[in-house]
Amino acid sequence: MPITADSAPFRLNGLVLTAKESEKHFATLFNLSPNVVLLTRFEDGLICNANCHFESTFGWPLQECVGRTTLDIGLWTDPLQRRHALDRTFATAKPAHLETQWCARDGGVHDGTLYTQQLELDAGVYLLSTFIDNTEHKLAQQALKASEEKFAKAFHSSPDAIIITEQATGRYLEVNDGFCRLTGYSADDVIGRTVYEFAIMADITQRTRLIQEMEEHGRVRNRELLGRDKNGEIITVDVSIDPLMLNDIECLLITARDISQLKNAQAQIQHLAYHDSLTNLPNRALLMDRLSQQIALLKRHNLRGALLFLDLDHFKHINDSLGHPVGDSVLKVITARLEASVRLEDTVARLGGDEFVVLISGLEGTRDAVIDQVRGQADTLRQLLAEPMFLDGHRLQVTPSIGVALIPDHGSTPADLLKRADIALYRAKDSGRNATQMFHSTMQKAASDRLRLENDLRQALARGEFSLSYQPQVDTRGNRIVGAEALLRWQHPSLGNLPPNQFIQVMEESGMILEVGNWILEEACKAGSELVRKGLIDTQDFSLCVNISPRQFRQTDFVERVERCLRTYDLPNRLLKLEITEGIVIQNLEDTIAKMLQLKQMGISFAMDDFGTGYSSLTYLKRLPVDALKIDQSFVRDATSDPNDAEIVRAIVAMAASLNLAIIAEGVEKQEQLDFLAQLDCHFYQGFLFSEPLSVAGFEALLRERQIE
Ligand code: C2E
Ligand code: MG
Ligand code: MG
Repeated sequence: MPITADSAPFRLNGLVLTAKESEKHFATLFNLSPNVVLLTRFEDGLICNANCHFESTFGWPLQECVGRTTLDIGLWTDPLQRRHALDRTFATAKPAHLETQWCARDGGVHDGTLYTQQLELDAGVYLLSTFIDNTEHKLAQQALKASEEKFAKAFHSSPDAIIITEQATGRYLEVNDGFCRLTGYSADDVIGRTVYEFAIMADITQRTRLIQEMEEHGRVRNRELLGRDKNGEIITVDVSIDPLMLNDIECLLITARDISQLKNAQAQIQHLAYHDSLTNLPNRALLMDRLSQQIALLKRHNLRGALLFLDLDHFKHINDSLGHPVGDSVLKVITARLEASVRLEDTVARLGGDEFVVLISGLEGTRDAVIDQVRGQADTLRQLLAEPMFLDGHRLQVTPSIGVALIPDHGSTPADLLKRADIALYRAKDSGRNATQMFHSTMQKAASDRLRLENDLRQALARGEFSLSYQPQVDTRGNRIVGAEALLRWQHPSLGNLPPNQFIQVMEESGMILEVGNWILEEACKAGSELVRKGLIDTQDFSLCVNISPRQFRQTDFVERVERCLRTYDLPNRLLKLEITEGIVIQNLEDTIAKMLQLKQMGISFAMDDFGTGYSSLTYLKRLPVDALKIDQSFVRDATSDPNDAEIVRAIVAMAASLNLAIIAEGVEKQEQLDFLAQLDCHFYQGFLFSEPLSVAGFEALLRERQIE
């Protein structure tokens, strides 16, 4: 039954209101209440009235509820609670309250506090229920709790140390497990005490700087600090500090991360980046670094230093013949000897391979005195390194060549100094190795000349500056041309015709000989094949001689290259004779022999060039499948004037005869030289006496002329 204006008067808490007053008062309360208000008849529980919040909260329009009970519309999630509420209402005159849950029309459950009060109206006894909906508040509380739990979890499970202190006093308010792990202190040890009571921050100046930074910027980001744990061990930490308001108290939130391991790893990486892994010596990068420091330091104190560039002579042979592990051991022994022989303030570095550098600093005295001193030191070093070493059952002896640059006399930058020491080293090697060589300005020119030559050579092939000349080889018996040696010519754009002795070595060292050598072989085969086609040479009795440099011969596919070349130009294999030098056998005799045999099987023959100037060792000569020896022109030239050379020629001829090898003399310029050779039964020769090297056209004309004769 809805409350109407007729239902007055009524009593509320013993206060008697007039009908008009009470109606007005009640209606106001009823509708203005921010809560749900419901009026039910006491005797049968039928709903009489409800305010607008009832519908908006529980979804029931008033007209659908009137005449039904709260149980009928399923308001109670637990009907027992209704009973409870009623009991309490009777037990006290005051409004009874109860924490309860009411259910909305759509099934949604609302938590709330229910206030109930009995109401006596003229029409009967009623129950006034006020429901304060706590659902949102409860949800908010739950969310807060969850967030607090989350924060606590994050706080404690963080791998970092997190500390909250009171800013003004430095008092520890909260620390997490990360803090305990990092410092060794427990939360009980520190909470309530101040940061000043512990020496966790190891460095006082760092602490002052931190406070300053806090004052200036209001916070601190990723500052690296030294800390001290409970045992007094130093730890490196990365610290960030943020201000934090807690219950109106200014606090600091401090996070610290242990970066000791990171620092160690960093140091290790840095060590690796600046040291050579085999010997643990400083590498080029570190040397350059120290060198630039030294240059500045020496200049400031008016002192000198020296850069010794060392290279082990023939180290490659050790690696090739005994293997890399032995080579590595040699380098370690050398390292130990070098380190033992320099002062602590000097630097020994390894640039790679068998190249070492010793940086000596703080030398006093006149320039000449310093030069003497350094030379003396370098020579002592050389002797020390040359001491025999016993490795893996081998007795080894390695000698170094040393190039020296003076600091600052020979350069003011690390790169310049290193380059100049290297130039001096090159000169030391050139002059026969196992030597010390001081840099001299004239060397710079030689070095830059060489560099220019190298650059020019790189373009020579593409620019068509190379050509081949052919020097006839003659059999004195019958004066027949029995062969020709192809000789490389280079028409340099500005320097004119350059003799091969001036550039073959450069090509060999730079590796250009591989490409150019290939071209030479092709060019010679092409020319030879042309002469055969024109019927100018007798394919049964002619040798086309091509010089092959050691590096060229060592190419793994050398045999295939030669084979391909002969096929391409259709030159009969037996026409080709390869001139090799003793340098070829220095490395891997077995491989050399195998390759030679393969080529010989194809019909190609071999001559040993410049014989007598190298090892001239019978042992390997016996094993090498060569067909002929070429007596070096230096012996031929002096054989008629120098009895010693005459003797050498005689011995070589005898050796060839006993080994059943053909013999040919080169560089024959005079008739008397030819007579001397003939008397030894050496009938083949090559030299200006018969002909200088000729262009291909010139050689062709010569052959034609001879054919007509
Ligand atoms: P080599 O192989 O011993 O060549 C013989 C050298 O002696 C040639 O010098 C030739 O011109 C020179 N010669 C010949 N007869 C006489 C003579 O009667 N008197 C004098 N004084 N010299 C004579 P060239 O052409 O200057 O070559 C010098 C060296 O350069 C060659 O010595 C050879 O080792 C190298 N070479 C030349 N051409 C080539 C090539 O195509 N490939 C390779 N790898 N080396 C080459
Ligand atoms: Mg030759
Ligand atoms: Mg020769």
